[in-house]
Amino acid sequence: MTPEPAGRPGRRRTRGLAFVVQKHRASHLHYDLRLEHEGAMQSWAVPKGPSLDPATKRLAMMTEPHPMDYNGFEGVIPEGEYGGGTVMIWDRGTWEPEASDVGAALARGELKFRLAYGRKLNGSWVLVRTRNRQWLLIKHRDRFAAAEDVTVTRPRSVVSRRTMAGIARAAGATPRQLDLAAAADAPRARDGAWAGEPPSLRPRTAPAPAPTPGGASRPGRRPRSRSSRSRRPAPGP
Ligand code: MN
Repeated sequence: MTPEPAGRPGRRRTRGLAFVVQKHRASHLHYDLRLEHEGAMQSWAVPKGPSLDPATKRLAMMTEPHPMDYNGFEGVIPEGEYGGGTVMIWDRGTWEPEASDVGAALARGELKFRLAYGRKLNGSWVLVRTRNRQWLLIKHRDRFAAAEDVTVTRPRSVVSRRTMAGIARAAGATPRQLDLAAAADAPRARDGAWAGEPPSLRPRTAPAPAPTPGGASRPGRRPRSRSSRSRRPAPGP
């Protein structure tokens, strides 16, 4: 038993500026890195996702700032709508700029910052603009740097533990969206350890359980009742 008031560890999280990374299988798979700035979420789409390896620079395309209530969204954007596809809350926590004037850092094209309370991402990072809306996301060398590919080793939602396919299935996604979500869960086969090996040397079964392609074999499945985080906020500015 502890004399600490309940809920205290969580309270600190709400004090900082929010960061969220949403894994998003739209027309292409990417990871949306969003940093709270002046009441909105400044956003970059990172096609390969963040890398914990300081030697690996990841392309990050600056996108429109998103409303903050989008941070809690995990579910499926209907086909035909902008960004249609499955969205996962891949990581979240707080962030802190290294220099106080974030607007100036963005205008200059170099934003150094620290992430905290992330389940996957923490420590010191930098976003550097190379041209126009094109930036690079780079991990600084610190105790949170690592060689592991965190997009492969930590693929699940930090709020629901679900996979992309699990999110899509629960939201009653179309068979096509289920296929795309399931493919987004799979480790990239071409980069995988078995890619260069002859088939006879590969494991009979996949090392990680592969989601059922499509999920279309379960037509009777009803969408589960949706939690608040499954509801998509109205599109913002
Ligand atoms: Mn996106």
